[in-house]
Amino acid sequence: MHLKDYEFWFVVDSQSLYGPEVLKTVAARAAEMAEKLNASGNLPCRLVYKVTAKSNEEITAVVKEANYDDRCAGIVTWCHTFSPSKMWINGLAGLQKPYCHFATQYNREIPNEEIDMDFMNLNQAAHGDREHGFIAARLRMPRKVIAGYWQDEEVQKRIGSWMRAAVGAAFSRGLKVMRFGDNMRQVAVTEGDKVEAQMKLGWQVNTWPVGELVEQMEAVTKEEIDALMETYRASYDFATDDLDTVRYQAREEIAMKRMMDAEGCRAFSNTFQDLYGMRQLPGLASQHLMAQGYGYGGEGDWKVAAMTAILKAMSEGQTGGTAFMEDYTYHLEKGREYSLGAHMLEVCPSVAAERPRIEVHPLGIGDREAPARLVFEGHEGDAIVVSLIDMGGRLRLICQDIHCVKPILPMPNLPVARVMWQAEPNLTTGVECWITAGGAHHTVLSYDVTAEQMQDWADMMDIEFVHISRDTTPEKLRQQLLVNDLVWKLK
Ligand code: MN
Repeated sequence: MHLKDYEFWFVVDSQSLYGPEVLKTVAARAAEMAEKLNASGNLPCRLVYKVTAKSNEEITAVVKEANYDDRCAGIVTWCHTFSPSKMWINGLAGLQKPYCHFATQYNREIPNEEIDMDFMNLNQAAHGDREHGFIAARLRMPRKVIAGYWQDEEVQKRIGSWMRAAVGAAFSRGLKVMRFGDNMRQVAVTEGDKVEAQMKLGWQVNTWPVGELVEQMEAVTKEEIDALMETYRASYDFATDDLDTVRYQAREEIAMKRMMDAEGCRAFSNTFQDLYGMRQLPGLASQHLMAQGYGYGGEGDWKVAAMTAILKAMSEGQTGGTAFMEDYTYHLEKGREYSLGAHMLEVCPSVAAERPRIEVHPLGIGDREAPARLVFEGHEGDAIVVSLIDMGGRLRLICQDIHCVKPILPMPNLPVARVMWQAEPNLTTGVECWITAGGAHHTVLSYDVTAEQMQDWADMMDIEFVHISRDTTPEKLRQQLLVNDLVWKLK
């Protein structure tokens, strides 16, 4: 399913105490609000007005329906009038979808002359939303609270942003990851508990032998490779005459895509230590698959592969770009301090500032032929880097705010795609915080997904979230990690 195929259900609260006229008005306004929110262009998915609920039974029924409807990626609640919230207990106790409490009201202003007790009875969201907020707090429900006037663009965009996080949650729960071979030998951070990941995040992570991929590669036809070469020509500049090498990458891409599509996998990992029967490490092949929305992780890193796919699903239709990334090296000149991110080959061209070039260069490790890869610079702009690590007994998601710049050096002899950035709160404090939290060298870098969306997603998946921002200090972070360790042992 694509982003636009999902919908969210608008469930409005009221009660019978005010008589049928009030209930009719509430229902009509709720439908109007959903319609106008959809017309605003600020919601990536449709908001469907579902019910003006007045009883435990109505709420329980709509929650059951939401749980079992694959198109429904979450519910949005609001109280037009006062509405007693004990009637939500049974429903919320069974809710399995993301939940946003939208605290708004139909009218923007208090009408000076017209306001009387009838107006007050009909328009008391300030009252009703507090009652509704209490019950979710009492039930310890993970939920998003968004307050503001429903016709304000900024408020609409916040709902839209939360919707994308919720679609990320739905996508996560159905995600399958194809591992070609195991992890790079001896590496710690790419390991993890795949059973825990499936319990919490829904991921089905399984391994396929490289020999099967080689068989699939041998079955790829000349015509299929010709067609993909045309696609490469349409998107990239050829800075090589070694077409055989580029064609070999096309063969790898077609075979990997075929295997993933047959299994319904949207992410994959491989490792240069297990290329048995392959002539090249997939470079261009992995990059072009990422450009099509597949998640990738190098050295068998299935966690970052899955996260890359999820952030791509969350940001579908946006144009900033999302890529598998690795922290490589620093520029530590005083006052001009930057991180240089890259990978051996596999950075997604969605983050490129200019048209990528296909180049062929030898690869120092892996003991294979020189592979074709896309070479480019990442573009400028605010972004985040995200790392999911297994703490043993729980998963921790670490997110850092960064500002990408045009690389300050041309680096003409660097044969890979590269992105340069300044991390928050600054390079060295940011590194201290990242290392203290245990963040990996592999990350997902996204110009589209925000830290708030990652926080929302982590809440939906019930995993720990650590945000390194301009306000982070090592002292505060250490304190947070200490408290988190206790909290997550109790949970
Ligand atoms: Mn790596």
